[in-house]
Amino acid sequence: MSAPFAYQAVKSDEEAVRAVASAGGAMYLAGGTTVLDLWKLGALQPSRLVDINAVPLNRIEVSGSGAITFGALVRMAEAGANEDVASLFPMVAQSLLLAASPQIRNMASLGGNLLQRPRSVTYRGPDPTAIEVDGRTDAIFGTSARTRSPHPSDFAVALMALDAFIKLRRPTGERVLKASDFFRVPADDPQRLTNLLPGEMITQIELAAMPWARRSAYVKVRDRASYQFAIVSAAVAVRLEEDGVIAEARVACGGVGTRPWRLPQVEEALKGRPADAKELEAAVAKADEGAKTHALNAYKPALLKRTILRAVLQAAAVA
Ligand SMILES: Cc1cc2nc3c(=O)[nH]c(=O)nc-3n(C[C@H](O)[C@H](O)[C@H](O)COP(=O)(O)OP(=O)(O)OC[C@H]3O[C@@H](n4cnc5c(N)ncnc54)[C@H](O)[C@@H]3O)c2cc1C
Repeated sequence: MSAPFAYQAVKSDEEAVRAVASAGGAMYLAGGTTVLDLWKLGALQPSRLVDINAVPLNRIEVSGSGAITFGALVRMAEAGANEDVASLFPMVAQSLLLAASPQIRNMASLGGNLLQRPRSVTYRGPDPTAIEVDGRTDAIFGTSARTRSPHPSDFAVALMALDAFIKLRRPTGERVLKASDFFRVPADDPQRLTNLLPGEMITQIELAAMPWARRSAYVKVRDRASYQFAIVSAAVAVRLEEDGVIAEARVACGGVGTRPWRLPQVEEALKGRPADAKELEAAVAKADEGAKTHALNAYKPALLKRTILRAVLQAAAVA
């Protein structure tokens, strides 16, 4: 049976960080769709859950210049349905609406989404040292002898592509990390998926204004059409010249890395090419540079290239 825990509801981020710092083994509780799941499986044994749902971090703010700030407690469903998010950063709205199920998206918060755990025994069983066996969904980038589970968050892939900022609070102050500094390759320490310090709380997620991100798309390939994690996904934004040639691109992928994976070599190779499938094939051919596969996931590099190609074409077709 799962161990009992104490419950404490707080009303401010200040109160929240103090509550977690004051009790060893305390954890934040947002939507609970990961925490309670893992508690029931014996993978998490919090001494106390600090409920942050009454903390006023549930707003989406859009600036005149087109920057967007999400409170960490905004629900996935609300952010996915927001018209400004959908028009300024289509890949973000799509990554959220293609995740989980409507019921889960109604409960699940954006902050909690970034801290969910991969779907393998190392993360979802009572023994955190359990070693994964080869599987067909394994990552092909950032793997180690200790872990090869792909990072499960769709939203995180879009944040990685857009160089989002993640605002953090702890009892002694605040700091901001770029998405690429927030997520870590777990390597020989599989339980450390981020550079969050013990007790730190995510307060906000910020997207700087990027007018050309209107031409962006998130393509998710999975075993069934809904309610399933990505086998491979791609978040792509393109800046097009007037003649339709790609001047700049952002490319990040899901389902392939032990953290959301940026592909700078593909971004570089896309520059200067017209957005037509034949031209783009040569650019996406570089997507599997550095990939490590085994017999069961050897299909992923080809699928990754096709997924990126679809996402580039979809992004470039936005009017
Ligand atoms: C069946 C199922 C299918 C799913 N499918 C997908 C999918 O396809 N794509 C996808 O991206 N996700 C998917 N998810 C994951 C889901 O999106 C996450 O469970 C959810 O976003 C977590 O948010 P939450 O608010 O419920 O977090 P919680 O469960 O409350 O918390 C999750 C973790 O984050 C910590 N935490 C929460 N908020 C904060 C904060 N502000 N600061 C610091 N720590 C915090 C908690 O302590 C805990 O460790 C699925 C989940 C389920 C159960």
